[in-house]
Amino acid sequence: YRDREFSHTKTMFERFHALFGLRKFRSNQQEAVDCAIERRYHVFVLMPTGGGKSLCYQLPAVLDDGITFVVSPLRSLILDQTQKLSSLGIPCASLTSDRTPAEVSAIYAQCYSSESELKLIYVTPEKIGQSDQLNKLFSHLYMKNRLARFVIDEAHCISDWGHDFRPDYVKIGTLRDRYPNVPFTLLTATATPRVQLDMLKQMKIERHLSKLFIQSFNRTNLVYKCFTKGKTDGALARTVQLCLSDQFVGMCGIVYCFSRMECERSAAYLSQSGVTARAYHAGLEDQDRADVQTQWANDDYQVICATIAFGMGIDKPNVRFVIHLSMPKSIEGYYQESGRAGRDGGLAHCYLFYSYQDLVKIKRLIMTEQSPNTTRDAQKVRLENLQRVYSYCLNNVDCRRTLLLEYFGEQFLSSQCKKITETRCDNCCNVAQTKLVDFKDLSKQILSLVDHLTRQLKTITLNQLIDILKGSKQKTIQNAGHDKLEQYNIAPDITKIDLERLLSKLILDDYLHQDISINDTYGTANAYIRLGKKTIYSEPILISVCTKKENPN
Ligand code: ADP
Ligand code: ZN
Repeated sequence: YRDREFSHTKTMFERFHALFGLRKFRSNQQEAVDCAIERRYHVFVLMPTGGGKSLCYQLPAVLDDGITFVVSPLRSLILDQTQKLSSLGIPCASLTSDRTPAEVSAIYAQCYSSESELKLIYVTPEKIGQSDQLNKLFSHLYMKNRLARFVIDEAHCISDWGHDFRPDYVKIGTLRDRYPNVPFTLLTATATPRVQLDMLKQMKIERHLSKLFIQSFNRTNLVYKCFTKGKTDGALARTVQLCLSDQFVGMCGIVYCFSRMECERSAAYLSQSGVTARAYHAGLEDQDRADVQTQWANDDYQVICATIAFGMGIDKPNVRFVIHLSMPKSIEGYYQESGRAGRDGGLAHCYLFYSYQDLVKIKRLIMTEQSPNTTRDAQKVRLENLQRVYSYCLNNVDCRRTLLLEYFGEQFLSSQCKKITETRCDNCCNVAQTKLVDFKDLSKQILSLVDHLTRQLKTITLNQLIDILKGSKQKTIQNAGHDKLEQYNIAPDITKIDLERLLSKLILDDYLHQDISINDTYGTANAYIRLGKKTIYSEPILISVCTKKENPN
């Protein structure tokens, strides 16, 4: 038995060297491949983009008897993979909508033939739900013991708790029911512990029948910084400055925008300022999009101004900066988008511009984005995700890496970030320019204000709280009688952003609680504040306040 195991391993290494031309496995690759070949567990690989997930199913597919089916969300991704495999001489095919009927028939004929050499077939998720022909093929191969494995690429798309839910993925769960003995491999570069569990649940994979291979998500070569923005053009002007600075001259980067219009506007503005830039968004014709991608790959443009449609499948190693002109919609999304910088391992910069207006704008978008698959719960999760990014932006104390990695269930000590000058995040850099102030007394006042208002059965939003504390002269405040409150105008000298920071801290630490309530009639969402589980006793409530001007814009 030992000999057999040894010879398996030997074959595995031989194929690894001979077919893929590689020498050494990267972290978790061999473990995942071994586990797949063993066929006793479903394999779940969580690796940052560029980590080498493909090998984790491609090598087993070559070694397995039968055909491995890979479900992948984008035709461009599929094309990329099949080209790579073909160039390595690995027999593979794809069943996407750009195949001619004759090509499709030929692929099916090959699959039905027991002599077939085919190892991997790529399909898009909608085919699983729609194509009878494909499902018949699955059943045939299953009967013949030639259905080797199902691989689900970008598997987080099955969870509507993630940032990139795709309704077409839901059908994939049915494969488990129909072919219970076929092992699955799930791949993703992004999933929080919550999304991980949900993925397994949606996929109907029992936790004890799966093995997880999770790799650290720390991107040591990326520098994370956040900036408040006044007007959008402030952020744009700063982006231009950056692009033309010594640091970035001639280097390429991605500028992520909120809307198609923002893409077009930013690209035009950058071009006028002497930066070669192009817009990229879902509104472009297929051909234009393909052109932009090719030109970008050839370094014809310094900057691409894109909506998030730009990214999946674009693996350009030398992206030196990723700038978000608007706040992203979730931490996961941000990690993913900013992660497109520095794939080559070289130093790269991730700048995020944010404002309260962004928060409002995206919230409105979430509320109007009604698709039949969007459940109320999913909508709430999205609002929470959004709130969490905003807290991340506002946070000017904690290490950005710690905050980002915490989201993926990973612990990271800020001392690690502080150690390396070049890649230190803004908060770790700014330690010297900020001082910690204890806002315990003000916080106690805020809690009693919230207590007072909720006892009177009044709803209160974060902004209303800020207005009261800063003594706003607005009519609505007066009409509500808020100017008569004891706490009216008790914090006139604290900046609005510091107050927001304080409130956001009180919420995160559970002194206050924020309920997101969705109004069905008007389709609006409000976040109402009430008391949380904790009371303030004698512990300090520390907020870091800048001793310098906040934004050296
Ligand atoms: P992911 O799917 O995780 O984003 P890929 O599977 O596309 O990553 O791999 C990213 C790059 O790393 C590819 O160019 C691939 O050839 C390369 N790669 C993968 N595994 C190894 C390895 N063990 N040694 C060297 N290069 C590798
Ligand atoms: Zn840091």
